[in-house]
Amino acid sequence: MLRVAVVGSGPSGVYAAQTLVQQREVPGVLVDVLDRLPAPYGLVRYGVAPDHEKIKSLQGSLRTVLEDERIRFLGNVEVGGPALPTGRLLELYHAVVYCVGAARDRLLGIPGEDLAGVHSATSFVSWYSGHPDAVDESFDLPGVDSAVVVGAGNVAVDVTRILARGPAELEPTDMPQPALGALAISGLRRVAMVARRGPSQGKFTTKELRELGTLPGVDTVVDPAELAIDPVYEDPAAAAALPAVARRNLEALRGWAGADPGGSGRRIALRFYLRPAEILGGPDGRVTAMRFERTAPDGRGGVSGTGVFEDIEAQLVLRSVGYKGVPLAGLPFDPSKGTVPHAAGRVLRAGRASVGEYVAGWIKRGPTGVIGTNRPCAKETASSLLQDAGVLARRELSGDPLDALRAAGLHPVEWPGWLAIEAAETDLGRSFGRGSVKIPDWSGLLGAAGLA
Ligand code: NAP
Repeated sequence: MLRVAVVGSGPSGVYAAQTLVQQREVPGVLVDVLDRLPAPYGLVRYGVAPDHEKIKSLQGSLRTVLEDERIRFLGNVEVGGPALPTGRLLELYHAVVYCVGAARDRLLGIPGEDLAGVHSATSFVSWYSGHPDAVDESFDLPGVDSAVVVGAGNVAVDVTRILARGPAELEPTDMPQPALGALAISGLRRVAMVARRGPSQGKFTTKELRELGTLPGVDTVVDPAELAIDPVYEDPAAAAALPAVARRNLEALRGWAGADPGGSGRRIALRFYLRPAEILGGPDGRVTAMRFERTAPDGRGGVSGTGVFEDIEAQLVLRSVGYKGVPLAGLPFDPSKGTVPHAAGRVLRAGRASVGEYVAGWIKRGPTGVIGTNRPCAKETASSLLQDAGVLARRELSGDPLDALRAAGLHPVEWPGWLAIEAAETDLGRSFGRGSVKIPDWSGLLGAAGLA
């Protein structure tokens, strides 16, 4: 028998657990999937936008894995804290796979970032996704006419879309009632999504980009002159040589550039070649506008400043410039990459593989790729672990780790507790005349799980 703890129940953790129990080379693998939150699924529950039902439905396949009899979900278990240091976890299990993601947002490092009304996209996403750590966030949406979203990745597209959508489109989602109510009374009319490089260098994927042009009552506009700064824009041979995603993105943007902007109400402006310079505020300490410096291609894929500045009005600024891994006490960490050093998923301590410690997902490879990217990533890690199984299984464990977790003062939410949360969310939604609606606070979640 080989007992493995997987820390984190997002896609990489669940795929790692699945690979470990479904393989045939090493019989008798039992996996506990631990999560700090009472609810499973990580960023599929708390990061995928609520209006992306198809991607959200992936929870169904993650659920099937967690219901495997060889796998146990244990929520409300914080690893790395005083009750359960990483060293203790390694005593309780033969091996530990850390799939803890990349929890922190990145800063712009410009003046004005601390003004009221300036937030990370990650905190906005957490708030509208009902993450219990974000329940007290406030975005003052009724006072917002114009918003700026900094960045050109899929998270920037997500928050731009959610800001621009009307309440009727958000109501069928599982968005918590307070977030839905706040978005419904927002006076927002304009969202500018601003990239520091060119249209062929956006990090968004084409499906997500195109969706911005399909929102009811929303005009999506781009300035053809801004697109034309990109050297490939008017060079068909260079455009044809781009990677497929960049080529298709360019086609979508070209379509909007030639279109009548319309006047349906809300407007999304996709802006390019503008890099953040400063965030401007009023005497009340609230953001009023964001200053950008016009950039120009430097011929090496980057940009350089031109000394020309432009202010875009905004009462809300969301910086969406990528995630960053956070060190976990007791685990080595490479601060420059925001990841744990590893070789094929084996954690490296002073350059040598540490017996029994593994990583998968964003904490292993950085915050890149779509959900499916985690499958091969987790498989590689699980294969390394299984190759080490002979050595790992030699160590005698003292008993069921769950008893030790409880003895340490932890109160794990087991699978029936999670099912009770799900049922409570269905009831909550029904009380509002909606489908299932997320419980957005710790006490509500723990109460529903029978732990309050
Ligand atoms: P991302 O894809 O890495 O994009 C980050 C963006 O921020 C880039 O446009 C980058 O521009 C820009 N940026 C970085 N530093 C900046 C600065 N100082 N000033 C201005 N701009 C700056 O990150 P993400 O959007 O957070 O997404 C993370 C991952 O989650 C990605 O793999 C994404 O595809 C995935 N995701 C997928 C979906 C989906 O499939 N629907 C949804 C959400 C997230 P440069 O390119 O110039 O550096």
